Amino acid sequence: MNHSIFRLPSLSTIQPYCRQHQLKPCLGSIKITDVLDNIDTLFGPCPELNGTQYTGQVITDEELGIPKKRSGHTLSFDELATERRIDYLPLSDEMGGFCLEHVDGAVETVRIGEDIKAVELAVQAVKDGKVHIAHETSVGAISRLARNNYSAKPVFMASTCKKGTWRESLQNIQTVMEGWKCSEYGEQKNGPIFSVASDGDSTRHAALFMMCMHTEITSENPLFPFISGLLGLNRGVSYDNLTMDFDYKHLFKHGMVVKDVCINRDLLTLWLERLPGYNWSETSIHALLNPTDAQDVPRAVKLLLCIVELGSLDKNELDPSEAAEFEALCLLG
Ligand SMILES: [Zn+2]
Repeated sequence: MNHSIFRLPSLSTIQPYCRQHQLKPCLGSIKITDVLDNIDTLFGPCPELNGTQYTGQVITDEELGIPKKRSGHTLSFDELATERRIDYLPLSDEMGGFCLEHVDGAVETVRIGEDIKAVELAVQAVKDGKVHIAHETSVGAISRLARNNYSAKPVFMASTCKKGTWRESLQNIQTVMEGWKCSEYGEQKNGPIFSVASDGDSTRHAALFMMCMHTEITSENPLFPFISGLLGLNRGVSYDNLTMDFDYKHLFKHGMVVKDVCINRDLLTLWLERLPGYNWSETSIHALLNPTDAQDVPRAVKLLLCIVELGSLDKNELDPSEAAEFEALCLLG
């Protein structure tokens, strides 16, 4: 077992790689200094390691076998569910857990200080509905587009009530982008951010649309030779060639275009009804295309198999418009 290629590394092997991070969430307002500190912590050299054998040592990327080569990066945003409560952060003597969208202005300060006045004011602001106790945390993480050390490292964290505007969402993204550009351990050392990725959050979609559809790649752009042959590709970029990158699962649920045919729920419903051997009721097709649990894998597999099966339908009976849809569905299957 010792010599098996599947063996787990021993403690003494992984200890030099182990880092304990003290990350800073944005609490009272969005501050680039918090983002810069997190970039330093996660991308800078580690002066202190927790393992007993290695305390005090500085382990550089070279020693860890990480090449110094710069590469592109992706900045990804998503939300994490959190408990709806206020936390006390003893290191900075601050309260955490108010939504970032409304805390600035509703609460004078999140720092507690010598008395409980700040706490009383915060309680009143929550009661008045001026600020919310957040139930989610927005996280912005940066990952390398490389063969090693590509894990996403969170550099931006802020509690959210998801009632913010696209401008506030854009400000969060731009603050992280600025932080990465300014930090000596950001773009300078590791390379630029190529794209900003997001889940299906519609407010963030609007923010990214405003940022990344600023200009279109034309023949003067250095990227043009690489993408000019890719017909149908969205060529919108930000002023510094940044692209947006959405989780395709969230995009495809609205439909997709295959050979100029928009394949969506309505079209699939019509075609699935033609499959022989299925006793579809309206509710069973609806349930297949609109699962209550989005993570229902067996149901998703059943839908995919049904789409594959559509290819076995007799195409000789189809009119020209149906033939075009049929061809697109076969391609999808
Ligand atoms: Zn709020």
